[in-house]
Order: sequence, then structure tokens, then C-alpha cells
Amino acid sequence: MLYISTRGNYHHVTASQAINLGMVPESGLFVPQKIPVVDYANTTQCSYQELAELVLKPYLSDFTNNEIKWCIDSAYNSNNFDSNSIIKTIDLYQNMSIMELWHGPTAAFKDIALQIMPNFLQLAKKKSGNKSHTIILVATSGDTGKAALEGFKNSEGISIIVFYPHQGVSEIQKLQMDTTDGNNTHVIAVKGNFDDCQTGVKQLFSDVALRQKLQNNGFEFSSANSINWGRLCPQIVYYFKSYIDLVENGKIKIGEKINYCIPTGNFGNILAGFYAKKMGLPINKLICASNKNRVLSDFFSSGVYNSHREFFRTISPSMDILISSNLERFLFEVTGHDSDKVFSWYDSLYKNSQFTVDQNTIETINSTMVSGWIDENQILSTIRQTYDKTGYIMDTHTSVGVALCKQLGFTDCHTVVASTASPYKFSCDVLKGIENINSVDEFESIVKISELSSTPVHRALDNLRNRPVNHNRVIEPGDMEKAVLYIIDSLHASSKGQNV
Ligand SMILES: *Cc1c(COP(=O)(O)O)cnc(C)c1O
Repeated sequence: MLYISTRGNYHHVTASQAINLGMVPESGLFVPQKIPVVDYANTTQCSYQELAELVLKPYLSDFTNNEIKWCIDSAYNSNNFDSNSIIKTIDLYQNMSIMELWHGPTAAFKDIALQIMPNFLQLAKKKSGNKSHTIILVATSGDTGKAALEGFKNSEGISIIVFYPHQGVSEIQKLQMDTTDGNNTHVIAVKGNFDDCQTGVKQLFSDVALRQKLQNNGFEFSSANSINWGRLCPQIVYYFKSYIDLVENGKIKIGEKINYCIPTGNFGNILAGFYAKKMGLPINKLICASNKNRVLSDFFSSGVYNSHREFFRTISPSMDILISSNLERFLFEVTGHDSDKVFSWYDSLYKNSQFTVDQNTIETINSTMVSGWIDENQILSTIRQTYDKTGYIMDTHTSVGVALCKQLGFTDCHTVVASTASPYKFSCDVLKGIENINSVDEFESIVKISELSSTPVHRALDNLRNRPVNHNRVIEPGDMEKAVLYIIDSLHASSKGQNV
């Protein structure tokens, strides 16, 4: 399997090269040249790990079977996840199920990809003969930072530095990050907001002189975000897993088409569902659920993608995104790999903050995709109604998906809603939905949710206050480069005994 650029501006590369590079050096994203088809009908007895092997193997054709097995087994096991089944498929209503994706070490759905991606990267580096020490730089508004830290901690030849806004994350998110252990993890609070962190990281990435200096000393920067193919492909697996769970539980017959509804931000999760469909999984519609930052649902209904608009901070913050990077991969597929079109659209987005697709493209999109958006009150009221009717407590992101399914009123086929965060992670807003109380104490709210749902607190959040704090640096936004260089100097000193 070879990978090509969505913008037709780069030569073919292998999977390990695509993972190693992250994104196409000029601009654009790597995509598989041809999507493989998998015979899902023979998979009903498969474990998550066996399914992962089946799905990932054709994509990682320059990895040996043993290497793929090693990646899977060291990521997807019951040390890292609540159970060996990795995800859980829960019945909510007669024709609606929930696919819980947050049973990993940090209670975020991003764990599923970020537990395995560092293994891919380690091997990809070896295969490409890349001997540099990789520094993963992350700017986070909360959840991604911790998931990336847990994924990369103790990875050989890799260090990770996470920047978060000093007063811009919740107490729990802060504690989750600051208590990270591991010999290669660095967590730094920045006296600014998320944009300051993001801008600082972008500046570090685009500083040519700095990059050269690092390279001369055996270091390189890389990122952990979902534009990397190595982070996207593992997400295809849980579509297959949830489908066969439904078959095994007698909810559907094998071959029956079902819908998937995905609370969407950067378009990575739902794109993985699109690949699953292309690989042969019987998916009817993919439902793209947005919050008040409805740039995607506006795009799907009008054909105009316009990122120049007001940005809202919502109670589903992981979906607060105005540029959904992975949409580019989807557009490349629905135009039949028309890289010229994709190039011109993204050039226009860069220059004018918007692009408009042709009628043909919109029609192709609408044959697989349904979309809509949900406001803050609907998120809260859907949490309450769902709890009242079923006893199930879901988080604010999942609620966007459930609310949209209700709004669309699908009854023709079974629908699976992706649950992307544990309710314990957004405990105050969840409790506000259920009991209409405005609590600001996340720890109290966690206890309350545990009582109301009769479930144990997610182990990622249990006992958090008593864990040792390993990181406590706070810096000014202007000092991010200095902080990074300081870390690199000490890494360099410990390996070579001299300064960069
Ligand atoms: C990242 C995230 C999303 C959005 O997923 P995308 O793949 O970026 O569309 C939704 N919900 C939660 C809780 C997330 O962390």
C-alpha cells in the first residue's frame, strides 16, 4: 500500500514514511492510494485485537506481521483499557446503541489512537533509518494533552512536551496532566489562552533556522495530531468491532445496514467511519453532529465552507473547531481523487477563509453524509431526558450525537452513536443537565454522578487528588522556545555531554 498527497504535490510514500512525515511537507495530507476491502462476514468471533490486525495489515504493508502484532498487543490490553474488549457497545433504545470509546487510560476517546500511534512511529522511524530523537510538541486545551502524554510516555527515541493554558483548563485536566509520570514527558503551563499555546507551537514548527539547528544535533520536531495517518487508521477498527457486537447481541443481522452518528470536531473519527464503509462494512448513513460551531453542518447543507465566523466556547469543548483538517481527506475521496480540485479549495481556504464545492460533489457527499448541529440547551436537556428514560448518563459531546439523532428522527435502521468522553470527564456540565444544579466542584460532581449512575468512577479520574504532582512549570507565552531549548539541551547533555 502506498500513500499519496490529497493535493497531488508529492511522490508516493510507504506507510512508515507517511507516519514519519506526519503531513505532506509542502501542504496536503497523506491518503491510501486504494482502500482495501475486508470480509467482515467472517469476523463475528474476532477479538478487538484480531480485528485490529485484519484492518490495519493492508494499510501497513511495509510492517511485518510480528511488528503489527507488537503494536496492537502493547496498546490494546487490559492494563491500558478497562477490559480486553477495548470499547463497549451499549443498548440505549430499541433502535439506538452507544459505542463507548473512552475506556482507555485517560478516559478520552483519543486514547484508542494515541495508545498505538507511538508504537507505529517508533517502528516507522527505524524503517526509514531516522535516528533523530523526536520531540513531540502539543498545544492542548485539555484532553488531547493527557492522552498524548500517556501514549508517548517512555517511548524509545521520543520525548513529548505539552503546553496548556495556565488558567484555561479544568482542575481535573490540569491534575491529569501534572501527575503524568514517565522518563520523557514534559508538561508546561503557559500564562495565556489556548491560542497563545497553539501559536507558540506553530512558530516552533515553522522556524527554519531552529529546525536546522536541531537537525544538526540529532533532534526533530513532530506532532501527534489527527492529520497523521498513524493516528487515523486505528480508528477504523472500532466501527468493525461495534458492528459485530450488535450482530452477536442479536440487535442486527449480519449484512444489515446501520447508521453511525459521530460528535465531530476535526473530522477524524467520522472519516475513519467513512473508510470503514469503503472497506465494506454495511454502513447506511454517517451522521456528522456539530455543536454551535457549526462550520461542518453549514458546509454540508450549502457547499460553502467558511471558517471566517464567530467562535463559540461550548460545553462540548473538544468539538470547538473551525477548521476540520480531516475533511480534506474526505473531499479527496468523494471527488474521485481529484487533487486539482482539492488543491484549489484549500488554497482558497488559506487565502480567503472559505471555499465552495460544485453541485456534483455536494450530491456525492449527501449520498453518504447527513449533518446537523445542536445548541447548548439541547445538549443539557438531552442528557436529562436520556437519564430519565434509560438511567444512562452520557457526557456533553455524546449528547450532541444523541440529540441530533432525535432531531433527525431516523427510525428506518439501527443507529450507533459514538460516545467520545466519559461523563466523569465533564462532570459539572453533566450534572447541570441532570439535576439543573450549578456545581463548580468537579470532584463533588464526580461522586454525585457515580451515585446517580451506580457505576464506579473511571479509574483515570479516581484518586487523582492524591497522586504525586510531577510537573509544575509555569511560563510566559514568549518563553516557549526557551523552555523547549532548555529541555533539548538537557536531553543532549545526558546523551552527549555538551550543549546545543
Ligand atoms: C476529539 C474529540 C471529538 C472530536 O473528534 P474528531 O475526530 O476531531 O472529529 C469529540 N469528542 C471528544 C470528547 C473529543 O475528545
